[in-house]
Amino acid sequence: MTDNRTDGPLLRLAGLTVRFGAHAALDAVGLDVAEHETVCVLGPSGSGKSTLLRVIAGLQQADAGEVVLDGRNLRTVPTHRRGVGLMFQDHQLFPQRDVAGNVAFGLRMRGAARAEQERKVAELLDLVGLPGAQRRAVGSLSGGEQQRVALARALAPSPRLLMLDEPLGQLDRGLRERLVVELRRLFGELGTTVLAVTHDQGEAFALADRVVVMRDGRIAQTGTPLEVWQRPADEFVARFLGFDN
Ligand code: ADP
Ligand code: MG
Repeated sequence: MTDNRTDGPLLRLAGLTVRFGAHAALDAVGLDVAEHETVCVLGPSGSGKSTLLRVIAGLQQADAGEVVLDGRNLRTVPTHRRGVGLMFQDHQLFPQRDVAGNVAFGLRMRGAARAEQERKVAELLDLVGLPGAQRRAVGSLSGGEQQRVALARALAPSPRLLMLDEPLGQLDRGLRERLVVELRRLFGELGTTVLAVTHDQGEAFALADRVVVMRDGRIAQTGTPLEVWQRPADEFVARFLGFDN
């Protein structure tokens, strides 16, 4: 496998399988994600969405199949060398550190110089709409502000692929709708490649260039939001989208 190939998808999954006992959480999943694309994985609870992100991040071992990022097979590459950023639902900020200390986390890990850290932190806080918040205590921030800090932290090491697992899950509906619009703008500006998981189809359709609908560890359908909405592949997808009402 060659390194740093520039043609082909940024991310390629082939035959990806994860078993827990007799149950396949992922069952031969294949998926390509192009550079700069935002793909949202949608599906009911237990369909394998989080497992998919965890395998790509190297937090979960695959029983079969391949994860190829930038032409590099990640099988033996540890999490911190994969060039992926992962942001979970419960964003787990470090409560004893201020905003800047949280955002700079990944930069410190890579040994970035102090001035470089400060410049990057200021730039990211501007981007996520929290200019000048460096010295604030994370405990004094609202839920939406904490989510923005978590996003800035995930973006700080400039990951090739940013993965979000139910990133807005704990916020109220109005705030979620506002943040989705901001995220879409932000990812467009940065040219970030994004793989996001949600069980909320409104969120997925607003954020995604392409959606992937999962069912029982398999991909039931992929397409643009409009394609999936207008032509659900089967009854499961149609029901999941709420067409049985
Ligand atoms: P989702 O994120 O779509 O809700 P998950 O990826 O968390 O789904 O889980 C997919 C399936 O794998 C579920 O049936 C879940 O119970 C199972 N599963 C996930 N993680 C584990 C684990 N560590 N041990 C056993 N079963 C697991
Ligand atoms: Mg999940």
